[in-house]
Formats: sequence, structure tokens, C-alpha cells
Amino acid sequence: MMTSKELYEGILGLKSPWMVDAVNLKTAEKEVRVVVRYREGSRFVCPECGKRMPLYDHRDRRWRHLDTCQMKTILEGRFPRVECAEHGVLDVEVPWAEKGSRWTLMFEALAIMLLKDSDVTAAATALRISWEGAWAIAERAVARGLEQRRQAPLKQVLVDEKAFRKGHDDLTLVANTSGEGGAKVEHITEGRDTESLASFWKAQRPERLAEVEAIAMDLHRPYWEATVAHVPGAIAKIVHDRFHLMRHVQEGLNTVRKQEHRQLQEEGFDLLKATKYLWLKNPSDWTPEQKHDFQAIKTANLMTSKAWAMKETIRHLWSYRSVRVARTKLRPMMKVADMFERHLDNILTFCRHRLTTAALVSAISQNRPLVIS
Ligand SMILES: [Zn+2]
Repeated sequence: MMTSKELYEGILGLKSPWMVDAVNLKTAEKEVRVVVRYREGSRFVCPECGKRMPLYDHRDRRWRHLDTCQMKTILEGRFPRVECAEHGVLDVEVPWAEKGSRWTLMFEALAIMLLKDSDVTAAATALRISWEGAWAIAERAVARGLEQRRQAPLKQVLVDEKAFRKGHDDLTLVANTSGEGGAKVEHITEGRDTESLASFWKAQRPERLAEVEAIAMDLHRPYWEATVAHVPGAIAKIVHDRFHLMRHVQEGLNTVRKQEHRQLQEEGFDLLKATKYLWLKNPSDWTPEQKHDFQAIKTANLMTSKAWAMKETIRHLWSYRSVRVARTKLRPMMKVADMFERHLDNILTFCRHRLTTAALVSAISQNRPLVIS
């Protein structure tokens, strides 16, 4: 009859010198702890240079493996460290896990599969690991993907920022749309300053940078600076993203509406009550009630109607090949107009490159972990 040791050696695919020393059931914790050891007299190599090295000492290590019998399964044991004259004291490599990982390769493979189909929170829940753990697995998958696509051309690049979770720093993301299969994230880094993006450009070979045709991004000044400093001819290639710009326009319009609504209410009028989405939506998406409301408000000659008309004008900018934003007394819209004035050259590059960050934004908004593999 197969012993539980042999059973687990089979499940884990252990090969010499590794073997199962004991299988400990922790019923209360619903855990199986598989203690692994190596055969007496085994020799080990430095994980950096592969040369055979003398044992230095042992230390406790553990990895989470796929559940067995519906129980959390942990591999653990005392594992050797070697001392290399060149690389120092290091943990020996084990065949079931990547260097520095707290999970076995099989566990990570399951995690990546789940992460591809769900968001980080759902995958973490299903795997019974922390959000940070699931995110770390996703990040390593991105890094592995990077290794594989180092040579892919870099022609159209999307840059975006995202706060992934409350209390965490914003992240800077860079995706390459030039390969097959849509936007692929090539760079994730914490922070949203110049260096957050410059580090990506600096990591590229000069030939790859020279291939860049267009870069879509928000108006965030540090990104612009990092790009101009590192990408040849960047000024003609940066396209300020129209979806980000429309969000600024929508915010301006909404501010006008709120101010005017307050003023009207003080005068005893409720004309703008509950009309937020009427103004923000595209007229083609209006419900019959909203169409009716609009007809009633239109004749009232409100500031909001003017701001709305301007929003619609700006919205159509991207279907035309030129733009003229009129001056206006509406302060919030003025801010938007100024913003357009300041960034006009890189907004109009859209006419030439037709590039936006939409694919990246949609991947982020669904909180997909952006796994490349
Ligand atoms: Zn070495």
C-alpha cells in the first residue's frame, strides 16, 4: 500500500535528492504540512553561477501548494544554503518554486489562470491568499511575459495611471499595442512621477525607442516630461488622450450645473433638479423623458445649456480634423479651454495618430490583473 509520504512525493512530483520526510495533518487549521528533506550526502550548487558549493547552513522555508483533500497544503522543511565565494550565502534552488516565491509553481499556475478570468480580489478570495499575494503573482507573470516579448516592436504606446486600491500608491502603467492580441502591459511601477515613466523609456534599447510612432497619455505633466526627455521626436508623437480630456470637460460642465442649480433654487426654481445625467450623457443615449426635459430646459437660456453646447462641440472635435474652443464667461469651462490651449499641439496629434488609451483604461477599469504569459 502506498504510504502518505509516497502519495505526496507523487502529488508534488518530487525527484531526488528531494523526498517527503513526513506528512502532518493539522485538522484544526484544515492544513496538510508536507515536510520535505533531501537525501543524505547530496551536493548543491550556487543558484547564480551553477557551480558546486559547500553547504553553509540550513534555514526553514515554506511554500503554499495546491490544496489536497480540500485542505490548505504547505510544503516546509529545513533547506540548505550554500556559500559561493562570488555570490555569497544563498538558498539552494528548489524545482517546485521560483526564487523568492511563497507559492509552488503549480499554485502560481492556478492563480494565473484565475487572475485571467477574474479580478485580483476574486482570485485572492478563491485561492485564500491576501490581495497583495495575488497581486505579487500577477506581477511576476507580467515580468515573465516581459522576458518573452523584449524584442516585440514598440510603435504605439499607451500610458496611464491608476490607484489600484485605497491606501496604496498610484501605479504607472505602460502598454504596447503594436503586437498581436491587443494592448499588452509592459511596465507597472508604483508612483506617478517623472521617474515612474522614465524608468520604462530608459530600459529600452535606442532602436526600440526610435521605432515609437505615437504615445497616448493624459495631461499629467511628469509623463510628458519623461517622454520628451527620452523618446526621439516625442513632441510630435504625444497624443493627449481624448477620453481623459472629455472627463475634464464633463467635470467642468457638472460644476456649472451644480452652481446654477443652487442659484436657481435660491430663487425658487427647480428646473435643474435631477438633471445631472441628462447633461453628461450623449443626446443619442437620452431616454424619451430626458428628451422631453431637455426641450423644456433648452428655452430657459441657462449657463448649463451653454456649457453643455460647448461640451457637445468639444465632443465632436474628435470626429473633425481641427478644433477651435471659443472663449467664454463660464469659469469652469474657461479652465478647460485654457487646458486645451496649453496642450493643443499634443491633443491635435490625435488627428494624425488616431491613438487613445482606451484599451488600457478598459483593462484597468475591470481591475483585470493585466497578466501577460
Ligand atoms: Zn555563485
